[in-house]
Amino acid sequence: ATREETLGFQTEVKQLLHLMIHSLYSNREIFLRELISNAADACDKLRYAALDNDAIYEGDSELRIEIEHDAEAGTVTVRDNGIGMTRDEVIENLGTIARSGTAEFLKQLTGEQQKDAKLIGQFGVGFYSGFIVADEVTVRTRKAGTEQAEGVEWHSQGEGEFTVADVEREAHGTEIVLHLKEDAREFADDFRLQSLVRKYSDHIEVPVRMPRVETAKDEDGNDIEGGETVTWETVNEATALWVRPKSEITDDEYKAFYKHVAHDFSDPLTWSHNKVEGKLEYTSLLYVPGRAPFDLYERDGARGVKLYVQRVFIMDDAEQFLPLYLRFIKGVLDTRDLSLNVSRELLQQDPKVEKIKSALTKRALDMLKKLAKDDEAYQTFWNTFGAVLKEGPAEDYANREKIAGLLRFSTTHTDSATQDQSLADYVSRMKEGQEKIYYIVADGFNAAKSSPHLEIFRKKGIEVLLLHDRIDEWLMSHLTEFEGKRFVDVAKGELDLGEIEGEEEKKAQEETAKAKEDLVKRVKEGLGEEVQEVKVTHRLTDSPACVVLPEHEMGFQMRRIMEAAGQ
Ligand code: ADP
Ligand code: MG
Repeated sequence: ATREETLGFQTEVKQLLHLMIHSLYSNREIFLRELISNAADACDKLRYAALDNDAIYEGDSELRIEIEHDAEAGTVTVRDNGIGMTRDEVIENLGTIARSGTAEFLKQLTGEQQKDAKLIGQFGVGFYSGFIVADEVTVRTRKAGTEQAEGVEWHSQGEGEFTVADVEREAHGTEIVLHLKEDAREFADDFRLQSLVRKYSDHIEVPVRMPRVETAKDEDGNDIEGGETVTWETVNEATALWVRPKSEITDDEYKAFYKHVAHDFSDPLTWSHNKVEGKLEYTSLLYVPGRAPFDLYERDGARGVKLYVQRVFIMDDAEQFLPLYLRFIKGVLDTRDLSLNVSRELLQQDPKVEKIKSALTKRALDMLKKLAKDDEAYQTFWNTFGAVLKEGPAEDYANREKIAGLLRFSTTHTDSATQDQSLADYVSRMKEGQEKIYYIVADGFNAAKSSPHLEIFRKKGIEVLLLHDRIDEWLMSHLTEFEGKRFVDVAKGELDLGEIEGEEEKKAQEETAKAKEDLVKRVKEGLGEEVQEVKVTHRLTDSPACVVLPEHEMGFQMRRIMEAAGQ
């Protein structure tokens, strides 16, 4: 080895390594999934690079992953003949964490094992997970298409630093050797490794192979010295899951695939697998996760689907195929309608992308509608992603009615802060003669619930939606009606209860208004410029007065948002 140098891990890597080793103890086996997943990615990348440069295969185009172990030495090796890495790439990829939001993520960790284990799992521990089971890791790699002298060896004990050196390496691709810790030697076992491959990596399209050693016997049944032959057996299913017919895929397989795509430990809430032929040709497999990723509200958080063109992996996080308000959806899109050399830039210009996007949006909304039939699962979904879905009507005008049907609210019907009532529920409870859907927006649930504007509604038994999320006013400014019924803010403009009030009531109100003209005049003089108008109201039954905004005025929440934005 030449040009050997010792380098320090980036601070974040040190932190992550420390946390991982201590909090993922009960989930140690995931290291294999992570290493296989990287090896499969490396094969995908080589296949993609070879599309316009066949020579890069160096005559070895049969992509594969090999897993070997040595029980005596206590090692497990994961090898691929994928793209490999240059020296610079090794230093960059196996010494730092390039992902955005890493610092933010590390801040969220609590030190509590259980919680942190989940968080780390969702962050995607990746390559460093090898150190959960190994106290020493060696990586040998060579970038496909480079000279054999350009191989690189990386070595570390996971404690602050690593070494890199140039080595001669015949094969391209990467080999990772884990020197197992004393208490993790159980993994250097044929049966154990095989079952882990089946459990986590069955659906990986690249074959994962393990050696089977057979020793020739002599006439007496004794091993012949030097008579060993090794055959490689493919252990996983090795066909892309989404290509297989739906009827042949088990729920467990769908779930395992989700964990691979979403870098998640836990099960998805639901999924939707579709093959579409005709004008557009694509296969999609979309999932609703069971919990929020740490970067859900970050501008550059990971979102979008894994994009394949005719089974060839093109890119992760293709965000052009789903609207922002569905950014929590994970999954795969495989299509014939795009060219193999499509790039992010080209995606932005291709009109077919818009068509697929609108089809996938519809699939995703339908999937949520189906999920809504299961109250408990849907409530989990709503509590996790409801606030994101509320961005929908503003972003996707065409689907606003569909989205409205998926929204859940607190209302005076339950008087509970839990948002679990749909608009359909509301409509089914509307009073005889009621034509509108009433709502109030406030800063918090209690402020909404105890607003004086509700007095008349409570008295008459008319239900009012109690909106108290930051985004609610923004939402309501983009929702005008549901099933033909207009939304009315009870704190704005004239209060018109329409047919709910009888003629007599209306007449009585007019008479009161007349009788109080003098009082109104005096109050108006007293308040002067502070108010636009003073009126007699039948909104209230207990409180003496309340502030009302003109109908088309911006609400209090919006004003505050605009002020914060410097407007
Ligand atoms: P992620 O896979 O989410 O990017 P990892 O920690 O798993 O994060 O891997 C970090 C990076 O190291 C990968 O993005 C890839 O560039 C590189 N890498 C890891 N394993 C391999 C491999 N077997 N072949 C080529 N590159 C690899
Ligand atoms: Mg990875």
